[in-house]
Amino acid sequence: MYAEPRRSSLTGAGVAAATVYVGLGSNLGDRLATLQGAARQLRDGVVPGTVLVRSSPVYETRPLGPSTAEYMNAVVELRTVVEPAALLSALQGLELLHGRTRRTRWEARTLDLDILMWLPIGLPSGLPIGLQGLLLDTPGLRLPHAELERRDFVLAPLAALAPGLRPRGGASVAELLAALNAADRTIVAQVAEHLC
Ligand code: ADP
Ligand code: MG
Repeated sequence: MYAEPRRSSLTGAGVAAATVYVGLGSNLGDRLATLQGAARQLRDGVVPGTVLVRSSPVYETRPLGPSTAEYMNAVVELRTVVEPAALLSALQGLELLHGRTRRTRWEARTLDLDILMWLPIGLPSGLPIGLQGLLLDTPGLRLPHAELERRDFVLAPLAALAPGLRPRGGASVAELLAALNAADRTIVAQVAEHLC
C-alpha cells in the first residue's frame, strides 16, 4: 500500500493542528525577564507538540481590580497539535515553573498565561467551530477568552499579530481595540518591540 510521505511533526496525519494566541502577563518579580523566559521556553519546545511562531510588543499596563502593581503584557502566536485542555494544563505547568501561586483571585502573579483564541488548521477536531476559531464553554476553559473584548492589554498586543481576527464573528480585534473607552484603557507604555 502507498505510504504518504511523512509530514512535519506539527501537521501529522490524524492530529488537528491549530494556531493559538496566548496572552502573557506579569506583575511580580522581574516582569520582563519572566515573560521573555517563558516565551523562550515555548520557542524551545517546553510544551511538547507546540512551537512559538511570533511574539507581540510588550506593554506596561495599569492593573484592573484591587492589585496595585503594574503589569507587563504581551501575546504570542503558537502552533500546536495538542488538544485545548492539554495545552491549558501545560501552560499552567509553565506558570508554576515561574513561581505562580493561586491563593486569591486578584493576587499579584509572576506569570499568567491565558489562551485567547484557538484557530484549527485544516480539519476541525469535532468541536463546534465559530466563524473564526473554536468556541468552547467548559468550567475550566472558555474560548475565545471571556474577557478578550474588554481588555486593551490583550487586544493591543493581539492586534499587532492578527488585527483582522474576529473573535466572535463580529468586530475585528483592531475594531474592538479602537472602540474601547478611555477609562478602560490600561496601557502606559510600550517597553519592547517584540517579546522574543
Ligand atoms: P485569571 O482570570 O486572572 O487569568 P487564573 O489564571 O487563576 O486567573 O485563571 C482562573 C481559571 O480560568 C483557570 O483555572 C482556568 O481553568 C480558567 N480559564 C477559563 N478559560 C481560560 C482560558 N481561555 N485561558 C486560561 N484560563 C482559562
Ligand atoms: Mg490566567
